[in-house]
Amino acid sequence: MGDKERKHQFISDALNERVSKHQLRSLHNIKPAQNRTSIIVEGKRYINFSSNDYLGLSTHPALIERSNEFAQKYGTGSGASRLVTGTLHIHSGLEQKLAEVFGSETALLFNSGFQANTSILPAVANRHSLILADKKIHNSLIQGALLSRAVFQRYEHNDYEHLESLLKEAAGRYNRIWIVSETIFSMDGDRSDLDKLIFLSKKYDALLYSDDAHALGVLGDKGLGLNYGRQGIDISLGTFGKAFGAFGAFVCCSSKMREYLINFSGGFIYSTALPPAVIGSVDAALDLILVMNTEREELLLNCNYLKKELKLIGFGTLNSESQIIPVMIGNEEEALRLSDKLKQHGFWVTAIRPPTVQSNASRLRITLSVHHERNQIDNLLGVLSEWKRM
Ligand SMILES: *Cc1c(COP(=O)(O)O)cnc(C)c1O
Repeated sequence: MGDKERKHQFISDALNERVSKHQLRSLHNIKPAQNRTSIIVEGKRYINFSSNDYLGLSTHPALIERSNEFAQKYGTGSGASRLVTGTLHIHSGLEQKLAEVFGSETALLFNSGFQANTSILPAVANRHSLILADKKIHNSLIQGALLSRAVFQRYEHNDYEHLESLLKEAAGRYNRIWIVSETIFSMDGDRSDLDKLIFLSKKYDALLYSDDAHALGVLGDKGLGLNYGRQGIDISLGTFGKAFGAFGAFVCCSSKMREYLINFSGGFIYSTALPPAVIGSVDAALDLILVMNTEREELLLNCNYLKKELKLIGFGTLNSESQIIPVMIGNEEEALRLSDKLKQHGFWVTAIRPPTVQSNASRLRITLSVHHERNQIDNLLGVLSEWKRM
């Protein structure tokens, strides 16, 4: 074996292990068609039940138009990081608009949800802090917690008695305590109890970080998410890559917190500001989200219908209370087989397997968008029910 081969041996070892566990991941080239409910993969058309573009905004003419307009006026790049010369008036303008719409003292843009989570937590917690996080939080929050070097403990999913017992134990031992949760959990589609989280954070003098990535645009008053309208959340995180149909992220917070993040969050400080085209599309999305109540109602009706029918067929859907609907399978090879069968019938539904979820919790993860039609859902249900009867 040559030097290079020896040095790279760990790569083959790790990949081979993934292969033997049927856990190797790979990329597919996707060609979007028809407001993203259809995709074309290797020449074949599928109905896409695995997109986070919940409102179909990523192909909406208004977003494309404002995105073009901003690119024409301000160029394709913002030229620098925010603190250098990258804060164009469109960045501050969008932040002001977000703060107004969300009724927050201030808002601050980040380049992605992943970047926000991995660079805010290390800014707001340190070796003397404690982070108490739900077992099912998104990988970006886990990475952020680890980077912060705070003591990091997980409470059982949505188990607030467990959380409270950890809070009690922690009393007086840390410089500060952060509670970290999502509003809609990205793999299970269920919700945290925000009132309870706010209550506990007050009672134990902890700070609250609530990631609203999947609820934004879809749930809450005017589609403004589940954090919206609640006092007592110290960092409210939203992303633009999902229902906003664009890219990027933001936090709603106090102006002091904003000033602090501008000074201490590495991901904010050391990264080029979002490009004008992205700011344009987000700006247009924000206008549209506010007036899409009818679409949202229809989407939620479809979600309830799908969940009800899945249960009748005999599939568990955990406690999904959103447009993210897990179809529980258990065994990962079986989940893959079902996903393949659905592909044969023209449905793209991604199988979610370990290490993303626990072993024996493999599932298909269906996400619905406002553009899915009832007959597409019925056809999907038809294949699922056939599989269940086999
Ligand atoms: C998608 C997601 C993120 C990451 O956001 P990006 O903008 O896609 O990087 C963060 N948190 C949660 C809960 C998510 O679902």
